[in-house]
Amino acid sequence: MKVKKLSGVVLGCCLIFTTAVMAGDLTEHHEAHVHGQANMTLITEGNKVDIAIESPAMNMLGFEHEAHSDQDKKTVTKVEKILSDSSALFTFDSVNCHAETSNVDIGHDEHETMAEETERKHQHMDIDASYSFTCEHIEQLQLVHVALFELFPALSKLNVEWVNNGKQGLDVLTADSPNIRFVTTSSTFNLF
Ligand SMILES: [Zn+2]
Repeated sequence: MKVKKLSGVVLGCCLIFTTAVMAGDLTEHHEAHVHGQANMTLITEGNKVDIAIESPAMNMLGFEHEAHSDQDKKTVTKVEKILSDSSALFTFDSVNCHAETSNVDIGHDEHETMAEETERKHQHMDIDASYSFTCEHIEQLQLVHVALFELFPALSKLNVEWVNNGKQGLDVLTADSPNIRFVTTSSTFNLF
């Protein structure tokens, strides 16, 4: 009886989890905006890998205000460049993947109104980035190396939600453990 009840809870958890991952909503299941931490989703579908990252700007820029000084603007340009280099950020073990698109948004919006900008000054700032890759023999994908910790030392923890090959799981990456491993662990669930 106890076991039955537990599996019901696990199933309920995963259905909600899947919906959120598909919707690309990272904040539902992770703590939103904790300096030193960032969130990532990785989803494989067909021969494609889609990755999304959401991080406090502090982890990458070292500040969260609008970039006004030349120094700030240089930092934004540098971080944009680093984050746009998909192939340097992610390494796919034993599978050949080609970077297709990357999209980096460093918390500013050209169409932002004055009121929104004023409000933002009292808030934190996030960086959003998304990537897509096309891979050969994607079914053999077992490990993805994430280079964010080498590039951004202020980042200490990356919460990863992944969906791959009919399975999904949660991983917490650190500088000492920067690889996503698609293996069955206690936090891995079968989708089918
Ligand atoms: Zn912040």
